[in-house]
Amino acid sequence: MKRIAIIGAGMAGLTLANELKAFADVQVYEKSRDYGGRMATRCRNNYQFDHGAQFFIAKTPAFKEFLKPFIQKNLVARWDARFVELTGNDVTYRWTWTDEVPHYAAAPSMNSLGEAMAKDLPVQLETHINEIKKNGQQWQLIDIEGKVLGSYEWVILAIPAKQVIELVPDECKFNKDVAEKNMSACYSLMLGFKEALPLEWDAALVKETNISWVCNNHSKPGRANRYSLLIHSTNQWAEENIELDNEVVTKFLIQETSAVIKQDVSVAEHIDLHRWRYANIQKQYGDRSFIDNSNRLAAIGDWCIKGRIESAFLSALDGATKLKQLL
Ligand SMILES: Cc1cc2nc3c(=O)[nH]c(=O)nc-3n(C[C@H](O)[C@H](O)[C@H](O)COP(=O)(O)OP(=O)(O)OC[C@H]3O[C@@H](n4cnc5c(N)ncnc54)[C@H](O)[C@@H]3O)c2cc1C
Repeated sequence: MKRIAIIGAGMAGLTLANELKAFADVQVYEKSRDYGGRMATRCRNNYQFDHGAQFFIAKTPAFKEFLKPFIQKNLVARWDARFVELTGNDVTYRWTWTDEVPHYAAAPSMNSLGEAMAKDLPVQLETHINEIKKNGQQWQLIDIEGKVLGSYEWVILAIPAKQVIELVPDECKFNKDVAEKNMSACYSLMLGFKEALPLEWDAALVKETNISWVCNNHSKPGRANRYSLLIHSTNQWAEENIELDNEVVTKFLIQETSAVIKQDVSVAEHIDLHRWRYANIQKQYGDRSFIDNSNRLAAIGDWCIKGRIESAFLSALDGATKLKQLL
């Protein structure tokens, strides 16, 4: 069987690895300590925060089918949130999410879906791939410490578009197309409270301010943790302020959140911030995955379609279909 290295253990990389494992000798490399990529969760002092993706809906039959076994095992569950839209600090729309359009979250945390998907896969965590180098007919992967990790016939990059460009050689055929994919940044503010705040909603989409989302993380399915709020900045504000100190960003987002939800959130006993350099991308048209058969390189990820978990899954399925014919 051909040896394939997949870089990135997010939804795209793990989906592809599961699709190809019967056809090839697959090895996944992931730079962080956890599976799931931007389906991420941080736990501190018994507070839990899904600081990346918040929820997902399933639009396509393929993604609905994929979710079924996880729903049966309660690893994915409905989040029937009391949802509002806030324009400034006014509630302009209310809707409780129901089975008309089921909204899902992984349970008991967003990263548990990645963990479940990685269960039967060879994934090497905490391995940052720094270079891929041709060695005869094979690719050598080299980590951040200069260690050679092995030789592979194919390398699949399941990482954000700009990071693909940093790794693939100039002669790669999809370089130009991938370089045009512009992902935008986002800040996640994590606040843990001794006592619950008196909010009449669980999740709020915010308009006309510098924050775009506030939710009670504790209201998601299967969460046994203490009361916590998760706030996202707008992509635009994050892009304009990506080099600011964390302290300055945190202070600003706390002020902004307090004004929007009309509660003083500076009383939080736990405060944390995460900067996502490549968080999201608008709808894209064209190829759903990129394959360079002559160099035996491929690239997949949400950025081929749209910044959504389902898009990462669909990009991986598209890549798997093409690759199965080439292996
Ligand atoms: C703040 C935020 C909010 C979001 N909200 C939602 C939402 O509500 N609903 C929704 O559907 N989607 C949401 N998304 C988008 C969703 O998270 C992504 O679409 C999806 O998770 C992308 O999956 P992926 O596998 O393509 O990429 P990623 O999840 O980014 O996976 C890439 C993986 O590659 C690893 N990696 C990168 N470089 C290297 C390297 N050199 N060596 C080794 N490993 C490497 C990374 O650590 C990461 O684990 C949100 C994202 C963010 C950041």
